[in-house]
Amino acid sequence: TAPTLEVASLNVHFGRGRARKQIIDDVGFEIRPGESVGLIGETGSGKSTIARSILGLVDPSAGSSVLVAGKQVVGLSANARRSFRRSGVAQYVFQDPHKSLDQDFTVEQSIAEPLLIRGDIKRADVAEAVRRQVDDVQLDAALLGRFPAELSGGQRQRVAIARALITKPRLLILDEPVSALDSANRVKILELLGRLRSSEVAMLFISHDLGSVAGITDRTLVLYRGRVVEVNKTSQIVNAPEHPYTRLLVGSAPTLSGGSIDRERREQLRAELHPS
Ligand code: ADP
Repeated sequence: TAPTLEVASLNVHFGRGRARKQIIDDVGFEIRPGESVGLIGETGSGKSTIARSILGLVDPSAGSSVLVAGKQVVGLSANARRSFRRSGVAQYVFQDPHKSLDQDFTVEQSIAEPLLIRGDIKRADVAEAVRRQVDDVQLDAALLGRFPAELSGGQRQRVAIARALITKPRLLILDEPVSALDSANRVKILELLGRLRSSEVAMLFISHDLGSVAGITDRTLVLYRGRVVEVNKTSQIVNAPEHPYTRLLVGSAPTLSGGSIDRERREQLRAELHPS
């Protein structure tokens, strides 16, 4: 089977002139249908920029290629970009459901919106599709009339996941989907995401935290300063990391930012990585 996502020679620069900075440096990887791939790295390493490049929300540099279900999404016109987004082929869930959910929409409206935007389904069938999707994410149908502000963090994230899945995307990007949740909800949402894996959908699961991706990904890419420094089976990354930076990550699990690794060791590894 052909890969659902093919990223090749992805380079992203931000800023102009002397302020121009390379954020993503020659990143390439593939995800096949049914595969779940982790993308880990600390805050600022470029994870979200990769996700946004795949969704057509960032302009990668010339020569970059991102194929989603065979379609090139780099360098699209504004119109083509809109129609790619409307198609719902690639969907996403972000860390903060406040950003992916419109505060003025009820749960039902939020979940229905991507279908209504795509516009290829009879209005009468939308309500039924929403109900099925709500069931899939184990959300109480009694919440359909509520607004995001009236939901718990875990419920909001279930709404965001239902909304992402309702167009039956080929590619689902999860960018820190559990980072904003308390630990009980974190476990529940990770379980849900594990259950939602299917042989059709390719998943890209982004986190600063290896612990979050470990249980639900097949392979993991390790990103360091915009570069992929290691790609391996997730079990290998967890148990026998090869790159010094990955060893740092694994040593500092479960959290990287302000993680448990002591400062001296961190500095030492940094020196190893960047001999000056
Ligand atoms: P991560 O998701 O791993 O935390 P990001 O992709 O958000 O990392 O950011 C990577 C780097 O790119 C950071 O240094 C960030 O400050 C910078 N960056 C992100 N978006 C922009 C932008 N629109 N303009 C300039 N710099 C940006």
